[in-house]
Amino acid sequence: MQRVFAELSSGRPGPLVIVIAALHGNEHAGVHALSRLQNALSAQDFTGKIVGVVGNLGAYLQNQRYLEADLNRIFVPERLSQCPRKVREVAEANTLIETINTLIDDHEGEVHLLDVHSMSGEGLPFSCFPHRDENEKIARRIPLPAIANIVQILPGTLTEYFADKLASTMVVECGQHVAEITKENAYAALLSYLDIVGVLNNYALAKRAREHLKTIVGEFSDVFTRVNFRYHIVNQGYFEMQPGYSNLQDVAVNELLAIDRGCEVRAPHNGRVVLPCYQKQGDDGFFIAVDEP
Ligand SMILES: [Zn+2]
Repeated sequence: MQRVFAELSSGRPGPLVIVIAALHGNEHAGVHALSRLQNALSAQDFTGKIVGVVGNLGAYLQNQRYLEADLNRIFVPERLSQCPRKVREVAEANTLIETINTLIDDHEGEVHLLDVHSMSGEGLPFSCFPHRDENEKIARRIPLPAIANIVQILPGTLTEYFADKLASTMVVECGQHVAEITKENAYAALLSYLDIVGVLNNYALAKRAREHLKTIVGEFSDVFTRVNFRYHIVNQGYFEMQPGYSNLQDVAVNELLAIDRGCEVRAPHNGRVVLPCYQKQGDDGFFIAVDEP
């Protein structure tokens, strides 16, 4: 596997879409989506260029979320300048930035970036994005629930790092890491994004993708919700989410959500629980979001 693992060129001028796969090494949905796209698209089905880039190559090869630190928290100057011999992800982040910058510099025309993820817990796929008008407009058009504000709450994400440099940056969380349907969801989300940013020319493919996503998320397809609470895990290994929570599930104020070092963790207000953590790595326990029209 190489850092740039897929390149589709229509041979015609148009936008460049950079698809980031496995920014967390154990999340392979983006890799599958790109290979499927390579087989499905012929040159007349799109304009411009689509390039697939592996995020955390070292962790991907070991099927780990990360090796020493969460790569998607490193894209801030103070972390990017740390010693790469101490934290391998610092080297990964700097190589990734270089790769993306080269792709941007070599392209004439606008550049978009889609970052494809999956989740440890069961739950509906969704989109999230750095806080920019264009991103919000695109997120509202993808037939997935959109979660605003999560990218701002998490410092050091790749999409925020590139948000001001690119025409749009978008994250899609496509479902549980190893569930088969997650691959389908990632493929459909990718097609939808390509359609919205004006790269896909195949109406039938775009329609099928939209219909797939609508079937998967049902009534949630128009949900736009904003995160206003993050539970930060201080001592990894001592946090235990209560069983049975799925992403975007309604929770009521004071509901018992987790036990951390023997202490009860309760919902601060009514809302939806976002990304409940059922894995050993990572320091985000869960988020709470409130719906907006
Ligand atoms: Zn991820």
